[in-house]
Amino acid sequence: EAKDGTILELGKIRMQFGGLKAVDDVDIEIKGGTVHGIIGPNGSGKSTMVNVLSGVYMPTGGSIVWQGKNITKFAPHQIAKHGITRTFQNLQLFNELTVIQNVLIGFHRHFRSGFLANLVHTAKVSREEKEFYNKAYDLLRIVGLEDRAHETAADLSYGEQRLVEVARGLALQPSLLILDEPAAGASNVEIDKINDVIRRLKKSGLSIILVEHHMEIVMNICDTITVLDFGKKLCEGTPEFIQNHPKVIEAYLGG
Ligand code: ADP
Ligand code: MG
Repeated sequence: EAKDGTILELGKIRMQFGGLKAVDDVDIEIKGGTVHGIIGPNGSGKSTMVNVLSGVYMPTGGSIVWQGKNITKFAPHQIAKHGITRTFQNLQLFNELTVIQNVLIGFHRHFRSGFLANLVHTAKVSREEKEFYNKAYDLLRIVGLEDRAHETAADLSYGEQRLVEVARGLALQPSLLILDEPAAGASNVEIDKINDVIRRLKKSGLSIILVEHHMEIVMNICDTITVLDFGKKLCEGTPEFIQNHPKVIEAYLGG
């Protein structure tokens, strides 16, 4: 961690798809222990930024420095190994598995071969497996779903499924958690729950990048917000600053 608390430096990130600059020379610095919001209209490059940062796309230009290390060309599994975990805008759960089995999958990097198959297909669990179960219960407690552990993932509401995804992400014990629209498709009650969970995670000291279009969540939780528009950084600052920024009002209201 740098002297000023910066843990992640995205420098002049560019991601080009053919002639389209989805992300266009964007600089972002993330401070440890903060929630950093990335907002912007549909198609402004938010998910592309997350995909670049998590190694899904190799950026066309720019650099990613994580805790002093250049990780620009790292593959997704290498980035995950360095403590950066992300969830996806579209759910990536195994619908036919139970809630706790979905979380257990998050521990996969600790598993010896066949371990997961055992967990899923047999009722008998060893002591080692039991430890993972206990850890998975702890994570479900954090997201308020411990009572639903043995239900099939498909039987949960959409917002609850998103929280299962968060719990699974936490199984990797990340230093930085990237949430891509965790409240997409969630009901108002679920949005409150997701809000609480992110607050709890922040309190625990976790650094979070939050991509979200529900303004009440973003304005409530974020320490700093970067606004993207057509792949470019429109402005950046505290929620108060962003909320009253004429450029933001214009971009959102199409003025
Ligand atoms: P946001 O998440 O802010 O809604 P995206 O990052 O998903 O925006 O998309 C930004 C732009 O990049 C959009 O115009 C989108 O169509 C385009 N885009 C995203 N991914 C790809 C891809 N794999 N190939 C081509 N164009 C893409
Ligand atoms: Mg998106």
